[in-house]
Amino acid sequence: WSSTNFPWTKKLEANNKKVFGNHSFRPNQREVINATMSGYDVFVLMPTGGGKSLTYQLPALICPGVTLVISPLVSLIQDQIMHLLQANIPAAYLSANMEWTEQQEILRELCSDYCKYKLLYVTPEKVAKSDVLLRNLESLNGRGLLARIVIDEAHCVSQWGHDFRPDYKELGILKKKFEKTPVLALTATATASVKEDVVQALGLVDCIVFRQSFNRPNLWYSVIPKTKKCLEDIDKFIKENHFDECGIIYCLSRMDCEKVAEKLQECGHKTAFYHGNMDAAQRSCVQRQWSKDEVNIICATVAFGMGINKPDVRFVIHHSLPKSIEGLPSGVCDYIRVKHMIIQGQAEQSPWTAGCGRNNMKNSDGILEKNTENLLRMVSYSENDVDCRQKDVTESAKQLVELVKLTGQHFSSSHILEVYRGSLSQFVKRHRHESLSLHGAGKHLAKGEASRILRHLVIEDFLAEDVKKSDIYGSVSSVLKVNESKAYNLRSGEQRIVFKHTLSL
Ligand code: ADP
Repeated sequence: WSSTNFPWTKKLEANNKKVFGNHSFRPNQREVINATMSGYDVFVLMPTGGGKSLTYQLPALICPGVTLVISPLVSLIQDQIMHLLQANIPAAYLSANMEWTEQQEILRELCSDYCKYKLLYVTPEKVAKSDVLLRNLESLNGRGLLARIVIDEAHCVSQWGHDFRPDYKELGILKKKFEKTPVLALTATATASVKEDVVQALGLVDCIVFRQSFNRPNLWYSVIPKTKKCLEDIDKFIKENHFDECGIIYCLSRMDCEKVAEKLQECGHKTAFYHGNMDAAQRSCVQRQWSKDEVNIICATVAFGMGINKPDVRFVIHHSLPKSIEGLPSGVCDYIRVKHMIIQGQAEQSPWTAGCGRNNMKNSDGILEKNTENLLRMVSYSENDVDCRQKDVTESAKQLVELVKLTGQHFSSSHILEVYRGSLSQFVKRHRHESLSLHGAGKHLAKGEASRILRHLVIEDFLAEDVKKSDIYGSVSSVLKVNESKAYNLRSGEQRIVFKHTLSL
């Protein structure tokens, strides 16, 4: 596919230079373009910033007809349209939050004989819910003017990805209706099983797959233990390394976004927040300020930045752990909190208008398990990346497992830690746990250290968290259980646990 002998090669290269101002192609861009322009269905896995947009915008420009682009974020769509119009490429978008008259005008243009648009962006819920749009696409297709269908952030189609959106599941209808139109599915994050799921759900035929390495030499990751002075640390980090530069701080909850933004504002940074509790107007206002550099730090939930085209983003901080290791692997240990949010379906998913709701992470079809697994992998990454000195903690690990057994496997991790470190709290006394032989056996350990060993035991399956949602109040509680077959190996000395030592700030 890297050939430069396709009939369109000359036009491609000329337009890449003239219209997009690029001197060459980035890895896989030419290959993807050749494959999609040859009429194949194509699946592309390319890192963020790798240049996915060009792989459909350039073909859209040189092929007759309209390219339909399905993209989940209105802010991202607006950003793309702005760039296209600046390059004199006629493009429009349709989304549920637009005035009806405005939508009608765009739909009318699609029906005209000489439709001026080269690209039409829509949100996935438009495809899922708007018969009018489908009728217009049929009309375009009937006149041979539906050039290509692009599905951006295609991993959202798969229930096994970390970002499933119900409306994406409906997109299979496109291939059924427009069999002959090539589909181009793009993502920066997909495991092999997610890819399979996407290809199947979209009904792609003889699909050509391009994958690209994710090791980017100009990126570095680091994991820093979170302390109480976390916000001061962030302020210091930015002032010392990236003062007045652009960056994104990902937070788990809407409240965190606002809190972090306010604190950094007080420290003299130009900051805004971005999350799902804001209406469309507020969101586009932040988006505009961000693209005009009126603010340079955004505190946001995960939805912001899915492909935001800002070449000068210099840092990304995960104020809390990212929900999946497939996101940027840097973070700190908010494991228990994230886990509770996953169970309660509270972790924010979609602060745009795609109408996916906030609760699609609830435990249907094993999604809870999948999300928990992603989370554990992430925690394990954070724990192990921190440093290179080793420490044998087998003895403490054995004692903690024993303590879970001694207390009848009815107690939470925080209680086990309290007993292990010798607490004499009322709760400990009420259960007579101060009289256990292992009460206080972990006195010599710092709280963080003991808790790290316990978390490791859960991550590595020596212990299991039995998480229950209480029926009445919807609150979550979890107790630790012993996984006997794994614990046996630990007790018998067959398995040791060696830690890399944690660095402090
Ligand atoms: P992605 O969608 O993969 O995250 P984008 O399509 O937004 O990436 O591209 C990221 C940046 O790279 C944009 O600023 C874009 O203009 C630039 N870019 C894309 N292709 C090329 C190229 N061939 N040469 C130079 N810059 C490019």
